[in-house]
Amino acid sequence: MSGSRLEREVLPGGTVMNTVHGDEPGPTLALLGGVHGDEDEGVLAVWRILQELETTALRGTVRAVAPANPAAWAARSRTTPYDDGDLARSFPGDRDGQPTETLADGITDRTIQGADLLIDLHSAGLRYSMPLFCGVARDQEDALRAAVAFGAPMIWLHESWPPGRSLTAAMECGVPAIYAECGGGGGVRLDHLDAYVTGVLSVMAQLGMLTESPRVRPSPRWVAGSGDLDAGVRSSYSGLFVVSATAGEVVPEDGEVGRLYGYRGELLEVLRAARSGVVMFLRRQAQVRPGDVLFVMAVRSEGP
Ligand SMILES: [Zn+2]
Repeated sequence: MSGSRLEREVLPGGTVMNTVHGDEPGPTLALLGGVHGDEDEGVLAVWRILQELETTALRGTVRAVAPANPAAWAARSRTTPYDDGDLARSFPGDRDGQPTETLADGITDRTIQGADLLIDLHSAGLRYSMPLFCGVARDQEDALRAAVAFGAPMIWLHESWPPGRSLTAAMECGVPAIYAECGGGGGVRLDHLDAYVTGVLSVMAQLGMLTESPRVRPSPRWVAGSGDLDAGVRSSYSGLFVVSATAGEVVPEDGEVGRLYGYRGELLEVLRAARSGVVMFLRRQAQVRPGDVLFVMAVRSEGP
């Protein structure tokens, strides 16, 4: 039997927050899915978690917003169609700003502020491939514990968060935060979806919000690096990007990640790893223009 109770509230900017109140006091978890509109994995995972909580005893409160950017999600677009805003570059937001900034402000103010943990469920979206992993700031102990409890096979350690992310807003509010990424490509893999659902429930168990203890999982692989897609390796040409590596693959220093061909079939460039590491973002779409991000790598790490 569940003693939890669901409330729905429209936030400034027009998205809906689902608040599940447990029958006992406890921590507050903020949960975001679909911050980018072309990422269905987090949206469906949040819906499945809300359904799970209908029949599960809960301590504390879950605040869930998915899709976090409904207009972008309806358009299957990374950004908001009417102001071209990227919600994941708009936090903490501005109540009187552009629509995407208003949306960010509502989520910061009503969902993130005052929570004990934020989990932001992303994925590679239409344009990229990514391995299943959880990302966390190296110096946030509570967040590191949550990242391990999430149970993804790989954890990416970051030194800091770039501006505009939900995690940056959380850090500024003193809220520990983690994010997750997986496959992308416009389809959803069941193993990735299940990993998101069980990952969040395992974190909730670790926080004492659920009575069941988390599943025992194998030790994660650790990687480190900035994790900023905007700082990835970019194309210098117009042409076709052909991948040699796969997302999650370990590539040695100087190993080939992909190659660029021109529109007459001529080889323009072989793109190689500047140093040994793991391919974390890899572009799916072959046609590229100068400046398009092709891939992002992380270096292997011993852990925090
Ligand atoms: Zn995303």
